Amino acid sequence: MKMKAAMLYGVKDLRVENVDVPEVDAGEVLVRVKAATTCGTDLKILQRGYIEKVIKLPTIFGHEWAGEVAEVGEGLGWPKKGMRVRAGNSAPCLRCAMCQRGKYNLCENMIWLWGAYAEYIKVPARMVSVNMQEVPQHVSYEEAAVTEPLACVLHGVEEARVKLGDTVTIVGAGPIGLLHLLTVKKIGAEKTIIIDVVKERLNLAKKLGVDEAINAEKENVVEEVRGLTGGYGADVVIEAIGLPATWEQALKLVRKGGTVLEFGGCPPGTEIKIDTELLHYGEVTVLGAFHTTPLHFKKALNLIASRTIDVRPLITRRMRLEDIKEAFNILSTSKSEIKIAINP
Ligand SMILES: [Zn+2]
Ligand SMILES: [Zn+2]
Repeated sequence: MKMKAAMLYGVKDLRVENVDVPEVDAGEVLVRVKAATTCGTDLKILQRGYIEKVIKLPTIFGHEWAGEVAEVGEGLGWPKKGMRVRAGNSAPCLRCAMCQRGKYNLCENMIWLWGAYAEYIKVPARMVSVNMQEVPQHVSYEEAAVTEPLACVLHGVEEARVKLGDTVTIVGAGPIGLLHLLTVKKIGAEKTIIIDVVKERLNLAKKLGVDEAINAEKENVVEEVRGLTGGYGADVVIEAIGLPATWEQALKLVRKGGTVLEFGGCPPGTEIKIDTELLHYGEVTVLGAFHTTPLHFKKALNLIASRTIDVRPLITRRMRLEDIKEAFNILSTSKSEIKIAINP
């Protein structure tokens, strides 16, 4: 049997082709993809490449998806054929030194699942057991697909220890910045400030309830954030872009004793400068956060299902799999699109 799939061959080389539907072995599950959502990481990989540890080319592209179980491998009591599910995009081994320390996101033997932009996706056995969930009837497939980025955000926000009453500044109003906004508001941030250079994104942030939106092209970001925080800076600053310049800018927006979460992944080989006084006299905590854990995937889907975190406003367009290249063109040029749902 053949299926349509978007194959990634290299930088800026994505092709929709007819490929074999994967065969299912014991413990594996074949899912008919019903919706896959685009991600900033996908756009980065397409435009500049990525580390081979995470993605080996050529491969079917895409990692945020949900669908309906089409085939269940031998030996599995769960899931059932026809069940609505989401899974992936990672499954830790639970045995390595990192897993044994509870750092499942840093697993030394992580398996990564690509292949969302296709009619079918095969879920490996380990992923079926540690990172696959049933999607409740009232949750759309495209909402369920957003479980992955939300899981990453939940992990980051937990690491940064955002608390009730905090002032939180978010650098970047793309999909990840906006998911951080929705999350810290639910945690009980007293004041939220978001920074971007795109007016349309700042407007969407306002619709989603941000207290202050700063246009970095028009305003002095450091002065504005200081002004909005009694001169001190924010309790927590979250960088959600992934550029050394904005990583450094984030350090200038935090109060003494505050926390900076450098969330966005920068291009390989890049470095930033940190003023030692900031860490010593300022007691600022600077954190990185990478990916997420199965527990956070579970929490993320539950929060989406209860609409505690309503991800629906982030899906701004729907397109067919055949038009995937056009979808990424739109994402790289349009100012108002956040996530596009691809319907294979
Ligand atoms: Zn993603
Ligand atoms: Zn491991």
